[in-house]
Amino acid sequence: MSFSSLGLCTELLTAISAQGYTTPSPIQQKAIPAVLNLSDVMAVAQTGTGKTAGFTLPVIQRLSDGSPVQANHVRALIITPTRELAAQVANSVENYSSHMNLRSTAVFGGVRIEPQMAALQAGLDILVATPGRLIDLYNQKAINFAQLEVLVLDEADRMLDLGFIEDISHIVSLLPKKRQTLMFSATFSQEIKTLASSMLNDPQLIEV
Ligand code: AMP
Repeated sequence: MSFSSLGLCTELLTAISAQGYTTPSPIQQKAIPAVLNLSDVMAVAQTGTGKTAGFTLPVIQRLSDGSPVQANHVRALIITPTRELAAQVANSVENYSSHMNLRSTAVFGGVRIEPQMAALQAGLDILVATPGRLIDLYNQKAINFAQLEVLVLDEADRMLDLGFIEDISHIVSLLPKKRQTLMFSATFSQEIKTLASSMLNDPQLIEV
């Protein structure tokens, strides 16, 4: 099994080689074709399995059509439970999209909001965000979700543990109904199943 057989484009294959990856991990083998197929996905995978590339690579490819982004709009939103994870995921997005013309950034609390508002002004293809700061930015009218195509919830079980369920529900209520939604979680508890059924549309279930 190779990355090229998963249907990824040349620009991404070049970036993947530069990272030194030779073979897609099991989660990548299942998630990448499903996401490229525009399915909703519920993936149960721990950290260390390569889950981040499992969703960032196909999301980047989906957005590579070069559609223009309007001011303050975002085409893909990746929500993470912590600042550290947001920074890490945004760094992966930047590495993988280095041969493409995509705009991405991370926003999270604990730092000044003004530079984040400025970064959003031109519009972004991919925004990685923690829930609280995302809601603050929305309330300040720095983000518009009308052009949103993809939502990713990373480490959904941790978001529930940290008490973000209401923030997440609020954010999802602001998004277009017609979108692709991907949810990643290390566990598949009843609570996660309930959240998944409220947010995902006929999802493909992936377990590794
Ligand atoms: P993650 O589970 O997304 O946190 O990724 C764990 C680590 O595996 C990260 O350091 C990635 O850079 C690395 N990684 C992801 N996919 C692959 C792959 N196909 N081959 C080798 N390393 C990988």
